[in-house]
Amino acid sequence: MPMQQMMQSTPPPPPSCAQDATFLVIGAGGLGAPLLLALGAAGARRLVIVDPDLVDESNLQRQVLYRTRDVGRPKVLAAKDALLRRWPGLSIEPVRARFDETSARALATDADVLCEGSDDLATKFLANDVAHALGRSVVIGGVLRHAGQVFPVRPGRDACYRCLFESLPSGDAARCADAGVFGATCGEVGALQARAALALAGDPAHDALLGRVWLVEPGGTRKLTLRPRAGCTGCGAVESPAAEVSSMLATTHSHFDTRVTATKA
Ligand SMILES: [Zn+2]
Repeated sequence: MPMQQMMQSTPPPPPSCAQDATFLVIGAGGLGAPLLLALGAAGARRLVIVDPDLVDESNLQRQVLYRTRDVGRPKVLAAKDALLRRWPGLSIEPVRARFDETSARALATDADVLCEGSDDLATKFLANDVAHALGRSVVIGGVLRHAGQVFPVRPGRDACYRCLFESLPSGDAARCADAGVFGATCGEVGALQARAALALAGDPAHDALLGRVWLVEPGGTRKLTLRPRAGCTGCGAVESPAAEVSSMLATTHSHFDTRVTATKA
Protein backbone atom coordinates (compact mmCIF):
# COMPACT_ATOMS: atom_id res chain seq x y z
CA MET A 1 0.00 0.00 0.00
CA PRO A 2 1.44 3.43 -0.93
CA MET A 3 2.55 5.51 2.04
CA GLN A 4 0.06 8.30 1.30
CA GLN A 5 -2.80 5.80 1.20
CA MET A 6 -1.63 4.23 4.45
CA MET A 7 -1.62 7.61 6.15
CA GLN A 8 -5.10 8.40 4.87
CA SER A 9 -6.61 5.09 5.89
CA THR A 10 -8.39 4.80 9.21
CA PRO A 11 -8.68 1.75 11.43
CA PRO A 12 -12.03 -0.03 11.57
CA PRO A 13 -14.51 1.33 14.14
CA PRO A 14 -14.91 -0.44 17.48
CA PRO A 15 -17.28 -3.42 17.50
CA SER A 16 -20.91 -2.64 18.27
CA CYS A 17 -20.58 -3.88 21.86
CA ALA A 18 -18.06 -1.11 22.55
CA GLN A 19 -19.89 1.54 20.54
CA ASP A 20 -23.17 0.80 22.29
CA ALA A 21 -21.73 0.63 25.79
CA THR A 22 -22.62 3.31 28.31
CA PHE A 23 -19.47 4.93 29.66
CA LEU A 24 -19.85 6.69 33.00
CA VAL A 25 -17.13 9.35 33.13
CA ILE A 26 -16.53 10.46 36.71
CA GLY A 27 -14.86 13.85 36.66
CA ALA A 28 -14.78 16.21 33.66
CA GLY A 29 -11.46 17.83 34.50
CA GLY A 30 -7.87 17.28 33.48
CA LEU A 31 -8.35 13.58 32.81
CA GLY A 32 -12.03 13.59 31.97
CA ALA A 33 -11.65 16.16 29.19
CA PRO A 34 -9.14 14.20 27.05
CA LEU A 35 -10.84 10.95 28.02
CA LEU A 36 -14.19 12.21 26.69
CA LEU A 37 -12.60 13.51 23.50
CA ALA A 38 -10.87 10.18 22.92
CA LEU A 39 -14.05 8.20 23.53
CA GLY A 40 -16.01 10.43 21.16
CA ALA A 41 -13.33 10.21 18.49
CA ALA A 42 -13.21 6.42 18.85
CA GLY A 43 -16.91 6.06 18.11
CA ALA A 44 -18.46 5.72 21.56
CA ARG A 45 -22.14 6.60 21.36
CA ARG A 46 -23.37 6.99 24.92
CA LEU A 47 -21.64 8.97 27.65
CA VAL A 48 -22.81 9.90 31.13
CA ILE A 49 -20.69 12.66 32.64
CA VAL A 50 -20.76 13.37 36.36
CA ASP A 51 -19.01 16.36 37.91
CA PRO A 52 -20.19 18.97 40.42
CA ASP A 53 -17.80 21.80 39.50
CA LEU A 54 -17.68 24.89 37.30
CA VAL A 55 -15.14 25.60 34.57
CA ASP A 56 -12.29 27.60 36.09
CA GLU A 57 -9.90 29.74 34.06
CA SER A 58 -6.89 28.38 35.94
CA ASN A 59 -7.69 24.87 34.72
CA LEU A 60 -8.04 25.59 31.01
CA GLN A 61 -4.42 24.58 30.31
CA ARG A 62 -5.31 20.94 30.94
CA GLN A 63 -9.09 20.76 30.62
CA VAL A 64 -8.97 20.84 26.85
CA LEU A 65 -12.70 20.55 26.24
CA TYR A 66 -13.35 24.07 27.47
CA ARG A 67 -12.91 27.56 26.11
CA THR A 68 -12.49 30.87 27.89
CA ARG A 69 -16.16 31.64 27.29
CA ASP A 70 -17.06 28.51 29.29
CA VAL A 71 -15.54 29.88 32.51
CA GLY A 72 -18.18 29.84 35.23
CA ARG A 73 -20.41 27.27 33.50
CA PRO A 74 -21.01 23.80 34.95
CA LYS A 75 -18.37 21.52 33.49
CA VAL A 76 -20.86 18.84 32.55
CA LEU A 77 -22.88 21.28 30.41
CA ALA A 78 -19.82 22.82 28.77
CA ALA A 79 -18.49 19.32 28.11
CA LYS A 80 -21.76 18.24 26.53
CA ASP A 81 -21.80 21.27 24.23
CA ALA A 82 -18.17 20.75 23.23
CA LEU A 83 -18.70 17.09 22.43
CA LEU A 84 -21.92 17.67 20.49
CA ARG A 85 -20.20 20.32 18.37
CA ARG A 86 -17.86 17.57 17.20
CA TRP A 87 -20.22 14.61 17.20
CA PRO A 88 -23.89 15.72 17.02
CA GLY A 89 -25.16 12.16 17.18
CA LEU A 90 -23.68 11.42 20.59
CA SER A 91 -25.99 10.60 23.46
CA ILE A 92 -24.71 12.55 26.45
CA GLU A 93 -26.26 12.74 29.89
CA PRO A 94 -24.72 15.48 32.03
CA VAL A 95 -25.06 14.94 35.77
CA ARG A 96 -24.03 17.93 37.84
CA ALA A 97 -23.36 16.10 41.08
CA ARG A 98 -20.59 14.55 43.09
CA PHE A 99 -20.01 10.82 42.67
CA ASP A 100 -20.45 9.95 46.31
CA GLU A 101 -22.13 7.44 48.60
CA THR A 102 -25.51 8.94 47.74
CA SER A 103 -25.27 8.93 43.96
CA ALA A 104 -22.71 6.28 43.10
CA ARG A 105 -24.82 3.16 43.04
CA ALA A 106 -27.60 4.55 40.85
CA LEU A 107 -25.11 6.08 38.40
CA ALA A 108 -23.04 2.91 38.15
CA THR A 109 -26.07 0.65 37.78
CA ASP A 110 -26.91 2.19 34.41
CA ALA A 111 -23.31 2.07 33.14
CA ASP A 112 -21.30 -0.64 31.43
CA VAL A 113 -17.87 0.84 32.15
CA LEU A 114 -16.88 3.31 34.87
CA CYS A 115 -14.11 5.75 33.96
CA GLU A 116 -12.82 7.43 37.09
CA GLY A 117 -10.71 10.54 36.53
CA SER A 118 -11.62 12.83 39.41
CA ASP A 119 -9.22 14.76 41.61
CA ASP A 120 -10.35 13.01 44.76
CA LEU A 121 -8.82 9.84 46.17
CA ALA A 122 -11.93 8.83 48.08
CA THR A 123 -13.84 8.87 44.78
CA LYS A 124 -11.35 6.42 43.30
CA PHE A 125 -11.88 3.97 46.15
CA LEU A 126 -15.64 4.44 45.91
CA ALA A 127 -15.64 3.82 42.15
CA ASN A 128 -13.64 0.66 42.72
CA ASP A 129 -15.96 -0.61 45.43
CA VAL A 130 -19.22 0.20 43.66
CA ALA A 131 -17.96 -1.31 40.41
CA HIS A 132 -17.16 -4.55 42.20
CA ALA A 133 -20.44 -4.58 44.10
CA LEU A 134 -22.37 -4.27 40.82
CA GLY A 135 -20.05 -6.33 38.64
CA ARG A 136 -19.07 -3.38 36.43
CA SER A 137 -15.69 -2.84 34.82
CA VAL A 138 -13.80 0.25 35.91
CA VAL A 139 -10.70 2.12 34.84
CA ILE A 140 -9.19 4.49 37.38
CA GLY A 141 -6.80 7.24 36.32
CA GLY A 142 -4.59 9.63 38.22
CA VAL A 143 -2.02 12.32 37.45
CA LEU A 144 0.54 14.25 39.42
CA ARG A 145 2.97 16.68 37.81
CA HIS A 146 4.48 14.77 34.86
CA ALA A 147 3.40 11.25 35.86
CA GLY A 148 0.21 9.27 36.03
CA GLN A 149 -1.41 5.86 36.24
CA VAL A 150 -4.15 3.96 34.44
CA PHE A 151 -5.66 1.08 36.39
CA PRO A 152 -8.22 -1.02 34.45
CA VAL A 153 -10.15 -3.64 36.41
CA ARG A 154 -12.46 -6.45 35.31
CA PRO A 155 -14.37 -7.55 38.43
CA GLY A 156 -13.63 -11.10 39.42
CA ARG A 157 -10.68 -11.27 37.10
CA ASP A 158 -8.15 -8.54 37.84
CA ALA A 159 -6.55 -7.17 40.97
CA CYS A 160 -8.60 -4.21 42.15
CA TYR A 161 -7.59 -0.75 43.38
CA ARG A 162 -7.74 -1.92 46.99
CA CYS A 163 -5.60 -4.97 46.20
CA LEU A 164 -2.79 -2.46 45.71
CA PHE A 165 -3.63 0.46 47.97
CA GLU A 166 -5.88 -1.20 50.55
CA SER A 167 -7.43 1.96 51.96
CA LEU A 168 -7.60 5.71 51.73
CA PRO A 169 -4.34 7.18 53.06
CA SER A 170 -4.54 9.87 55.68
CA GLY A 171 -2.52 12.99 56.17
CA ASP A 172 -0.59 13.65 53.00
CA ALA A 173 -3.42 13.93 50.50
CA ALA A 174 -4.38 17.52 51.22
CA ARG A 175 -0.79 18.70 51.40
CA CYS A 176 0.16 17.14 48.07
CA ALA A 177 -3.00 18.19 46.29
CA ASP A 178 -1.43 21.49 45.26
CA ALA A 179 1.52 19.86 43.52
CA GLY A 180 0.04 20.59 40.10
CA VAL A 181 -0.30 18.57 36.93
CA PHE A 182 1.14 18.97 33.45
CA GLY A 183 -1.53 19.38 30.78
CA ALA A 184 0.11 17.17 28.17
CA THR A 185 0.48 14.37 30.72
CA CYS A 186 -3.26 14.62 31.41
CA GLY A 187 -3.85 14.17 27.69
CA GLU A 188 -1.58 11.13 27.59
CA VAL A 189 -3.18 9.48 30.61
CA GLY A 190 -6.73 10.38 29.58
CA ALA A 191 -6.24 8.90 26.10
CA LEU A 192 -4.76 5.72 27.56
CA GLN A 193 -7.67 5.54 29.97
CA ALA A 194 -10.10 5.84 27.03
CA ARG A 195 -8.41 2.95 25.21
CA ALA A 196 -8.63 0.84 28.36
CA ALA A 197 -12.32 1.75 28.69
CA LEU A 198 -12.95 0.62 25.12
CA ALA A 199 -11.16 -2.65 25.86
CA LEU A 200 -13.31 -3.13 28.94
CA ALA A 201 -16.37 -2.56 26.75
CA GLY A 202 -15.27 -5.36 24.44
CA ASP A 203 -13.05 -3.74 21.79
CA PRO A 204 -10.30 -6.32 21.18
CA ALA A 205 -8.06 -3.72 19.53
CA HIS A 206 -7.04 -2.54 23.01
CA ASP A 207 -7.02 -5.86 24.84
CA ALA A 208 -3.31 -5.61 25.55
CA LEU A 209 -4.05 -2.86 28.07
CA LEU A 210 -6.10 -5.16 30.32
CA GLY A 211 -4.77 -7.11 33.27
CA ARG A 212 -2.09 -4.54 33.93
CA VAL A 213 -1.51 -1.24 35.69
CA TRP A 214 0.07 1.39 33.45
CA LEU A 215 2.50 3.95 34.77
CA VAL A 216 3.00 7.01 32.58
CA GLU A 217 6.31 8.58 33.55
CA PRO A 218 8.55 11.31 32.15
CA GLY A 219 10.79 8.68 30.56
CA GLY A 220 8.05 6.52 29.06
CA THR A 221 5.31 4.11 30.03
CA ARG A 222 5.77 1.06 32.26
CA LYS A 223 3.36 -1.72 33.09
CA LEU A 224 2.84 -3.77 36.22
CA THR A 225 1.05 -7.09 36.35
CA LEU A 226 -0.75 -7.64 39.64
CA ARG A 227 -2.72 -10.51 41.06
CA PRO A 228 -5.62 -10.12 43.47
CA ARG A 229 -4.50 -9.75 47.11
CA ALA A 230 -5.88 -12.37 49.45
CA GLY A 231 -8.38 -10.87 51.85
CA CYS A 232 -8.86 -7.68 49.86
CA THR A 233 -11.96 -5.85 51.08
CA GLY A 234 -12.56 -4.31 47.65
CA CYS A 235 -12.92 -7.44 45.55
CA GLY A 236 -13.02 -10.23 48.14
CA ALA A 237 -10.10 -11.98 46.49
CA VAL A 238 -9.02 -15.27 47.93
CA GLU A 239 -6.11 -15.90 45.61
CA SER A 240 -2.66 -15.42 47.12
CA PRO A 241 -0.28 -13.19 45.21
CA ALA A 242 2.62 -14.91 43.52
CA ALA A 243 5.95 -14.42 45.24
CA GLU A 244 7.34 -12.11 42.60
CA VAL A 245 4.19 -9.98 42.71
CA SER A 246 4.38 -9.73 46.49
CA SER A 247 7.92 -8.51 46.14
CA MET A 248 6.94 -6.02 43.48
CA LEU A 249 4.09 -4.71 45.59
CA ALA A 250 6.46 -4.17 48.47
CA THR A 251 8.88 -2.20 46.36
CA THR A 252 6.31 -0.15 44.51
CA HIS A 253 3.80 0.58 47.21
CA SER A 254 5.52 3.62 48.65
CA HIS A 255 6.16 4.82 45.10
CA PHE A 256 2.46 4.55 44.37
CA ASP A 257 1.45 6.12 47.62
CA THR A 258 3.49 9.18 46.81
CA ARG A 259 1.91 9.51 43.40
CA VAL A 260 -1.63 8.53 44.14
CA THR A 261 -1.91 10.36 47.40
CA ALA A 262 -1.37 13.52 45.46
CA THR A 263 -3.53 12.69 42.48
CA LYS A 264 -5.01 15.86 41.08
CA ALA A 265 -7.00 16.11 37.89
ZN1 LIG B 1 -8.99 -6.27 45.53
